[in-house]
Amino acid sequence: MTTMKSNLHPSTEMLEKFVSGDLSVGVNLAISAHVEMCEHCKSEIQEIESRAAEHWAESATAEAIDYEADPSNIIENIVAQPQFKELDIEESAVGSIHMLDRSVRLPKVLAKAASEGLVWKQLGAGISQADVKIDDEVHCSFLYMKPGSQTPVHKHQGTETTLVLDGSMSDELGEYHKSDFILRTNNDTHQPRTEEGCLCFSVLDSPLTFTKGLARLLNPINRLRFQRAVGRTLS
Ligand SMILES: [Zn+2]
Repeated sequence: MTTMKSNLHPSTEMLEKFVSGDLSVGVNLAISAHVEMCEHCKSEIQEIESRAAEHWAESATAEAIDYEADPSNIIENIVAQPQFKELDIEESAVGSIHMLDRSVRLPKVLAKAASEGLVWKQLGAGISQADVKIDDEVHCSFLYMKPGSQTPVHKHQGTETTLVLDGSMSDELGEYHKSDFILRTNNDTHQPRTEEGCLCFSVLDSPLTFTKGLARLLNPINRLRFQRAVGRTLS
């Protein structure tokens, strides 16, 4: 039995795909980092894993293997048992990110992803971004919003996954704090803002479209940057 959870966690469907390894590396990373901070999702994953193990056991029984006739079948079936994704992550040298006067301790998976070094770029308006090159299909980055800043209004062509690592931010749909997992799809237009400052990990499977004012001019550059990030050429 699972208790009700808010929509600021990965959905059960996403967690099932996480367990079966059907998500992009970037989204997997965001979920792993969330799970490190969330007991609820940690136990939900354990339930999904044990359901999958039971399912495996049932189907193995259904095949009616005659162990007595051939004991080597036991070994074969143990070897054939699916290996569930382990959440064991090594400790990394880069344990935290230092931004202004604060030091943010990273979830271990993200510390590992960041261990090759982060290069921060100013995106303007108090927002900085450091790319994490880990996945060819999605664009992963750390985003830092200074206290009192806000991003330009933008719309998503694809899916944006955001994990709040420190501080808080809000948009038209709500307020988000540490460990909150936010999924935005192509119908959402939003403008995140922060009072106290906010560090996030963001995974984009498609470029953003800025919808208002001067920020619209960023669009071609943004697309170019995105395509460069995912290693595709302009068509
Ligand atoms: Zn959760």
